[in-house]
Amino acid sequence: MAILPILHYPDPRLRRACVAVERFDGRLHELIESMVETMYEAPGVGLAAPQVGEAIRLLVYDPNPDPEARAARVVINPEIVLREGSVVGEEGCLSVPQFYGDVARAERIVVRFQDRDGTVHEEEYLDLTARILQHEIDHLDGVVFIDRMSALKRDILKRKIRKAAKAGDYTLTA
Ligand SMILES: [Zn+2]
Repeated sequence: MAILPILHYPDPRLRRACVAVERFDGRLHELIESMVETMYEAPGVGLAAPQVGEAIRLLVYDPNPDPEARAARVVINPEIVLREGSVVGEEGCLSVPQFYGDVARAERIVVRFQDRDGTVHEEEYLDLTARILQHEIDHLDGVVFIDRMSALKRDILKRKIRKAAKAGDYTLTA
């Protein structure tokens, strides 16, 4: 287990389309454990493999930040098979530290995915958990939440990030 460095937007490695996980072996389990540790350390409610430089379809999440009630979940090779409703909410991202923006997401989704041993599951997610899942699955397709903001708000945010980077208040990883 290790704390992994998290890539920051606009690192081009966040733009890669990730490939499916095919081997559910010890190496994968080690990466999962490190990602969970990295997520809690950050702290964050979700982390996708490309955020730590691994271009594979794997994410971890835990909507409950309470250290006493930790229950990290692992989602591999996810596919959203149903989307319902639309709700706007504020999002942040460990790859865009200190910046937040409103994004519209489906209110309810059903996701088919594999667990750490390769077993297929289908689960329904609502509200915050649905938002986390959609945000993290986007990462697997090279999409960052900023891309889903309105053009105007996105431009403002990008300008703020550039300014912060220049001032040394935002760390670039590439
Ligand atoms: Zn993110």
